[in-house]
Amino acid sequence: MTELRAGSASDVGRVRTNNEDELLVTDRLFAVADGMGGHAAGEVASLIAVEALKAAFERDRTADGLADAVREANRAVWRRAAEQPELRGMGTTVTATALVDEDGEELLTLANVGDSRAYLLRDGELDQITDDHSLPEEMVRRGELAPEDAALHPQRHILTRVLGMDEEIEVDCFRIIPFKGDRILLASDGLTNELTDDQIASVLRRLSDPEETANELVRQAKASGGSDNITVVVIDVVDDDDRANAASAALASTAAPPSGERVARVADTGGDGSGRRDADVDEPRAPRARRLTTRVVLFTLAVLVLIGGAFGAIAWYARSSYYVGVDGDRVAIYQGRPDGLFWFDPTLEQRTTLAVAEVPPARRDDIARGKEEASLADARRYVANLREEAAALLPPSTTTTVSPPPPSPAPPPT
Ligand code: MG
Repeated sequence: MTELRAGSASDVGRVRTNNEDELLVTDRLFAVADGMGGHAAGEVASLIAVEALKAAFERDRTADGLADAVREANRAVWRRAAEQPELRGMGTTVTATALVDEDGEELLTLANVGDSRAYLLRDGELDQITDDHSLPEEMVRRGELAPEDAALHPQRHILTRVLGMDEEIEVDCFRIIPFKGDRILLASDGLTNELTDDQIASVLRRLSDPEETANELVRQAKASGGSDNITVVVIDVVDDDDRANAASAALASTAAPPSGERVARVADTGGDGSGRRDADVDEPRAPRARRLTTRVVLFTLAVLVLIGGAFGAIAWYARSSYYVGVDGDRVAIYQGRPDGLFWFDPTLEQRTTLAVAEVPPARRDDIARGKEEASLADARRYVANLREEAAALLPPSTTTTVSPPPPSPAPPPT
């Protein structure tokens, strides 16, 4: 059995006078809703949505059931706005997740409309699961706006999709196979407009208790402005029926690449109300580049240190001695090993004036192979010995120095 543990927090913030956000935490269903509309209508919209969502999901606790529950919540807000003129124009976002059973497999299903967000923290890495249905974010997705300009876009608060505006609504659906240690965050834009993803990730990684984590996120969002209502639900997967171990065992035994998507986007049929999904085909999100987790970084560093250490040791050994060898017709001293070692070729240290031809024949094989010496001084001593032996062997006549050439006769005067 997959077991979840959740914590939540909601705060009016430092600017608004009322909290129009609503949250829902049950054993299997979790949601955040951010209401909007004048004269406290936002509060009404988010409350209606959450209550309708809960009631509808109770009737069909499946992935389709959650998407249908969001559509039902939409109709509930829409009907109420139509009935009460003072509530006209109210709307609400909703981001919900539920633990469901699909063909005997437990999975987390997510449904989203609006700009509240769901994130997944897995292996210390934070990913935004949902797409914001706001004007600039839609422009980013169409390639009309740079992602870094979206956060400051003057129309960032204009939502392109929200519950309560129409009788039917398109719902974005996602699903996640939950693994022990996974952490899901649902949050209204009061959090995500105040804190960067890195700041959020840092809190999610640092604190383990979900309630404490939710409170800390709200506290930080307030501290950095608190210009909107802030609502946070943190859901931890505390037991996964040994799914994580089974998955890593399977992975290890097949040496297969990681199964890829952390989150699968589920095709939505739109608001046809039938609840039928386009088969079971997942439309995977664009594969995110596998970011380096701390463990991967540490492992890579350890491997690099080992490789570097081994390389250094080989280099030291390869260059640590000298030998007396041959360079052309001269005796020479080299640094390194006579045949080199891996890619470390010996280097010529000194070409002596001693001709190979002068070396006593008994020593020539030695220097042809390379006579190894522990140090440069030892190598020089060996050459000096060779010189002495050579001199002792040579007949005296051949040691005479070459006499200077006789002076050339002066040119005859003209
Ligand atoms: Mg808000």
